Amino acid sequence: MSILSSTPASQDYRPVDKAVMKRLATIFPQDRISNSEVDLFTYAYDATKKQYPPQVVVWPETAEEISALFSIANEYRIPVYPRGAGTGMTGGALALRGGILVSMERMDSIIEIDEKNRLVTVQPGVVLATLKTELQKKGLFYPPDPSSAKTATIGGTLAECAGGLNCVKYGTTKDWVQSIKAVLPTGEVIRAGTKARKNVVGYNLLQLIVGSEGTLAIITEATLRLIPYPPHRSTFVAQFDSVRNSANAVQSMLQSGVTPCALEFIDRISLEAAHSHVEDKTLPVCDALLLVEVDGFDLDEVKRDSHVLSKICADNGANEITLANSEEERQACWDIRRSLSPAMYAKAPYKTNEDICVPSSQFPTLLEKAYEIADRNHVLTLCFGHAGDGNIHVNFMSHKEKDPDVEKAVDELFQAVVALEGSISGEHGIGITKAPYLAYEMNEKERSLLVDIKKVFDPAGILNPDKIVV
Ligand SMILES: Cc1cc2nc3c(=O)[nH]c(=O)nc-3n(C[C@H](O)[C@H](O)[C@H](O)COP(=O)(O)OP(=O)(O)OC[C@H]3O[C@@H](n4cnc5c(N)ncnc54)[C@H](O)[C@@H]3O)c2cc1C
Repeated sequence: MSILSSTPASQDYRPVDKAVMKRLATIFPQDRISNSEVDLFTYAYDATKKQYPPQVVVWPETAEEISALFSIANEYRIPVYPRGAGTGMTGGALALRGGILVSMERMDSIIEIDEKNRLVTVQPGVVLATLKTELQKKGLFYPPDPSSAKTATIGGTLAECAGGLNCVKYGTTKDWVQSIKAVLPTGEVIRAGTKARKNVVGYNLLQLIVGSEGTLAIITEATLRLIPYPPHRSTFVAQFDSVRNSANAVQSMLQSGVTPCALEFIDRISLEAAHSHVEDKTLPVCDALLLVEVDGFDLDEVKRDSHVLSKICADNGANEITLANSEEERQACWDIRRSLSPAMYAKAPYKTNEDICVPSSQFPTLLEKAYEIADRNHVLTLCFGHAGDGNIHVNFMSHKEKDPDVEKAVDELFQAVVALEGSISGEHGIGITKAPYLAYEMNEKERSLLVDIKKVFDPAGILNPDKIVV
């Protein structure tokens, strides 16, 4: 079967036919528009591994081109899907109804590094790690650091309000956005936020668009907040023979007054998966491992803080604590941590990756519940993640693409999370994979507010339809 024929038919939306292609060709030169099967196939995926080929891919270079694209899309009622690097975990960039896929990867300039105001202005296609490297050369730091930083784009991280490895100290993407320029689905270009640190003018459009998963507007420029790069770091690995002890150590560390910049939990089976996925065995296999990092501007202080936290681990039963003795060792720890998500496939071909988040006091209970639910449903689970935020990736593995046991486990997990006053998504968003569960966390009125907001931004329903609220 041709991949084109797998595009779901829709009565509501018009397909991209020759007439539409002709109109689009008035905006995009030949090398920035394609409906070749190779391109449609390439842009059909994200990290969910689901496959929805668009009918055409365009690579805009300006907000004006996107605006012109929207006027055609409105006229013909064609769905439009913005896409960064396609590392999204919940299907946000998937072209569910075919339509026009807008790849932002050519809008990849770092426009201005404003050292005086500690701000950087970028286009959305800039890869996060590239930006971080450029900033570090100038002694500046943009903290958001999802494990996908080497691939994910600024636009994608803003749209998903990405979290990652150092939120425990620095917060998530939304805490580092100063302003954005965006094109509305109606074609108008807006700015939300200014260069001023404080701004209480009107409703907070900036924070409405950040985290809206590409359903309200296409971000074409962002001004991000920076701080000086903390030059000193101390990183250690604490091994536990009990998950409960490691979770208790996390609690004690968070109450100690010393804030680590990263506090990650990895369970035994995730470590085993990592060992079969990467050659480097820097992270040992044990029942529960905490990977802890402290950063700062004063080396003695960093060492002191690191000592305080490692002692807490020892007091909570860590049987071995290993300090990274060099930058290479430190990097090795983080490279392995970043590889965990793909490493899971060493255990089974299908993965349902949840990113639930609970108040930190509930973190030990959450872990127990996750394992209990997996056992009860006879599903293999691997847990790792951002323990310092109470945000854990519970991965249910399966040998079947559609597995009723996994579906039951997910359902029970979400119910447990909500009962613990937590959230069904701490960082990956709702997209399509979690949309059926939105009602677990938001009541009817709350969901209807989302629908109403979407209608105000996108009256014709052409931007990334069928996502979040269905
Ligand atoms: C190995 C791995 C590790 C990961 N680790 C983390 C982690 O630690 N923390 C975390 O939070 N996430 C993590 N993720 C998920 C993912 O990397 C993030 O959600 C990231 O923000 C997606 O960026 P992207 O550029 O790939 O966006 P895409 O996947 O291309 O798109 C994501 C969403 O953003 C929208 N979008 C993209 N660009 C724009 C734009 N310019 N304007 C408006 N909307 C836009 C899309 O429509 C879509 O809804 C991980 C993913 C992988 C594969």
